[in-house]
Amino acid sequence: MISKKKTLQMLDVIDDMFPDAECELIHENPFELTIAVLLSAQCTDVLVNKVTKNLFQKYKTPEDYLAVPLEELMQDIRSIGLYKNKAKNIQALCKILLEKYNGEIPESHTELVKLPGVGQKTANVVVSVAFGIPALAVDTHVERVSKRLGICRWKDNVKQVEETLCNKIPKSRWNKTHHQLIFFGRYHCTARNPKCMDCPLLNDCREGKKRYKVIVE
Ligand code: SF4
Repeated sequence: MISKKKTLQMLDVIDDMFPDAECELIHENPFELTIAVLLSAQCTDVLVNKVTKNLFQKYKTPEDYLAVPLEELMQDIRSIGLYKNKAKNIQALCKILLEKYNGEIPESHTELVKLPGVGQKTANVVVSVAFGIPALAVDTHVERVSKRLGICRWKDNVKQVEETLCNKIPKSRWNKTHHQLIFFGRYHCTARNPKCMDCPLLNDCREGKKRYKVIVE
């Protein structure tokens, strides 16, 4: 693994590449964000935004989601993967929000992860994006990029990746870094064809050096 100092140098480069990185899930409040993040599991933000454009017109409150039969909600999100489970989770979540939280999304990470369909990553995104609380959510892009660059170990699981990132990066940078690593992974260091030959980190990147060993050395 690379050092804390080297990690921050790399993040500075990524900061220059994507200074305006931010959450790409369209939402107007913490409740909509939570629904959007829940829908985004194993699905692209682009597709989620397409679906939520109509969804958020039709359903504005937890009561709205509970006022329709489950089958109707399933139909409204059917173009999204795992839509049956996600619809069930949304209604279960809305019920708990009304019973325990006065219909509002709780700001506490501990409370959020107790909600149906809300795991560690979703809770981290909600607290950081909706409430500005420092958190570093690890999605597929963050994990892949962190491992390729050598910030984390290849064998690390998601929890270990999050711990390592939080140890190496100052808390004040967590929220911004989360979005920048996602942009870097989504638009530059992509899963299938990373733009190594056009990458300012190529000479320091263990994955890039492996792929283009002859050229770099
Ligand atoms: Fe990703 Fe390639 Fe750049 Fe490494 S060199 S960070 S693998 S694009």
